[in-house]
Amino acid sequence: MGYIEPAPIKDKENPFESMMSRFHIAAQHLGLNDEVYNVLKNPTKQVIVSLPVTMDDGSIKVFEGYRVIHSNILGPSKGGVRYDMGVNLDEVKALAAWMTWKCAVVDIPYGGAKGGIKCNPREMSAGEIERLTRAYTNNMIEIFGADRDIPAPDMGTGPREMAWMMDEYSRTQGMTVNAMVTGKPLVLGGSLGRTEATGRGVMVSAMAAMEKLKINPYQATAAIQGFGNVGSWAAILMEERGVSIRAISDVSGAYVNEKGIDIQKAIEHRNNNKGSLEGFDGADRIDGAELLTLDVDVLVPAAMEDVITMQNVKDIRAKLIVEGANGPTSAKADQFINEKGIMVAPDILANAGGVTVSYFEWVQNRLGYKWTAERVNRRSDRIMKEAFNTVYKISKEYDVPMRIAAYIVAIDKVAKTYSFRGGF
Ligand code: GLU
Repeated sequence: MGYIEPAPIKDKENPFESMMSRFHIAAQHLGLNDEVYNVLKNPTKQVIVSLPVTMDDGSIKVFEGYRVIHSNILGPSKGGVRYDMGVNLDEVKALAAWMTWKCAVVDIPYGGAKGGIKCNPREMSAGEIERLTRAYTNNMIEIFGADRDIPAPDMGTGPREMAWMMDEYSRTQGMTVNAMVTGKPLVLGGSLGRTEATGRGVMVSAMAAMEKLKINPYQATAAIQGFGNVGSWAAILMEERGVSIRAISDVSGAYVNEKGIDIQKAIEHRNNNKGSLEGFDGADRIDGAELLTLDVDVLVPAAMEDVITMQNVKDIRAKLIVEGANGPTSAKADQFINEKGIMVAPDILANAGGVTVSYFEWVQNRLGYKWTAERVNRRSDRIMKEAFNTVYKISKEYDVPMRIAAYIVAIDKVAKTYSFRGGF
């Protein structure tokens, strides 16, 4: 095949290159033809907008916003919007492609997209964030739509921002369009179970993987990096199933307790402490980076990209890594993880519970109907479990690690769909 090899990867990778190097390996296993390879390699659309926003002191600050649609081959594109100072085009491009693969792995009828605004929401007032969110949505009127491109929460955004997006979009259409965004507050057509969905999917993936590795959850220990929505829900749900959570962390540092951390207590502390674990007294505080190399059975990176790298991969002692974050492992570190025989439930599989329940939210909005939490959880657990088993089966069939198997499942599905739809 005549693919041009992706550029050699450095550690501390460009996230798009990191995504591409896995894509490349999976494409070779599948014998993907050059035409489809090139179609899937390049995002369909990349939009960069400049957003002037009036700040509370009367000054006008200009923010940069992005929306990248990687693919709409499987259906309308889907993916969150991130508010963070680290947002840049390469990151958004990689995250958009990961959404394509993620939706394909769990077999929901969506393509992949991602958006972001370079800003620090922690330093902004609610009014400033609202004006920024409305300005962004307004600039994306031609892009967003219930049948075109559907945003959702990601780092730095939540139901509040989704409500503003829905309202701003609806104003321009002259009617309420709640299916144009997911992750909304319940009263606006949000779905029961959406808040905990990503963490719940992480738990389901962890349980499925432990079963394969013959690890008894009641005797297992875990360390969870990141105590935002994904990490804290994964922690509580894993604890409920018997796993002793030995360490948790956030930007304030890592907190370890050999007897297991009382997660409910940690959540209460965080909720009463402006979202931070700072000062949590139910554990000893250690350096944040140390969490990754603790002697536990299960490691759950649930914070951000590129945290398991060449710097620390050799010291990792867990038998299982369940990726709650998008892209937490650098492509170069993959090789060492595989050599050590660590099983990975990769991001595009393990954190797909969020977008799965986003899909349910969209379905309910379009039906004008509401499902019970029980129905949402039962259906999403089934989807996550089936996706895990499919990826596991492919990893045995092709004799490849779980990550490459997940890419194989995803790329195969998108490529087959493309072969029916075709190009110009
Ligand atoms: N931002 C989440 C993710 O990375 C959710 C996306 C969605 O629900 O559309 O999977």
